[in-house]
Amino acid sequence: MPDPSASRFARSVLQVAPPGPRHWVGDGFDVHTVFWPQRDAAATSPFLLLDFGARRSFPPAKRRRGVGEHPHRGFETVTFVYEGEVEHRDSGGGGGTIGPGDIQWMTAGSGVVHEEFHSKAFTERGGDFEVIQLWVNLPARLKRTPPRYQPILDRELPRLRIGAAEVRLVAGSLAGRRGPARTHTPMLVFDGRFVEDGTATFDVPKGWNVLALAIEGELAAGADAAGVPPAHFARFDPSGDGPIVLAGRAGTRFLGLAGEPIREPVAAYGPFVMNTREELIQAFEDYQAGRMGHLAPREEG
Ligand code: MN
Repeated sequence: MPDPSASRFARSVLQVAPPGPRHWVGDGFDVHTVFWPQRDAAATSPFLLLDFGARRSFPPAKRRRGVGEHPHRGFETVTFVYEGEVEHRDSGGGGGTIGPGDIQWMTAGSGVVHEEFHSKAFTERGGDFEVIQLWVNLPARLKRTPPRYQPILDRELPRLRIGAAEVRLVAGSLAGRRGPARTHTPMLVFDGRFVEDGTATFDVPKGWNVLALAIEGELAAGADAAGVPPAHFARFDPSGDGPIVLAGRAGTRFLGLAGEPIREPVAAYGPFVMNTREELIQAFEDYQAGRMGHLAPREEG
């Protein structure tokens, strides 16, 4: 394994965290929750939750698998499809099908109702499916921002060669390039794959929370070359000012998340993430009263 500590002044890793228990979201998404707000809010902010659906094969079927109509308020859901196809519809009028390499960045903001399914074509064909869903928090002043839907296609993502890794830049700036996602607070989101054994070095502002998730293969992270097995993540020292250094063998894949922390209370329950318990109760009432909208009936059966 290449040794990231060979890079002098590399930032240290505070923690390598294992994923939580595996569970199904609806009948379509077989995931580990890797981090979540009830446990990790301050340490991962502005990122709230990450569901990692490692690659699994689905046999062909007639009925679409997934999760039906449900609400969100107060944050954003970001879905990375690595294999398979996901189809989404929301009450804000957003929707579409995204395939391998594509990402959808949905701002729930003031509230949406949506559904998330395997696409019809993928359901009928079957095959490998691999997906990550990340929740990104919104600060109090933006929790009621209007809903927004950004489909981000694989071909729109800048590709950067950083050390031994090929990186796709989703949001923020890296090595003079900018990712296409529009975000509400400063952050850097990228994924990558080692194309040869070696290291990759990233400059991230001091004070930001920085996380590196191993998607496939084992990463070595930071000054002490901490081992990060698949579905685990490394959390770097936000007070350090050295670069973020990752190492891996050819084929190792990862997701990099860095952002300026939102230093506000987090009140999270089910599909809502607000600042106070009263706002959570309000969200449930607004959803039940239909104030987050509804999905139009589906055309097909
Ligand atoms: Mn959802």
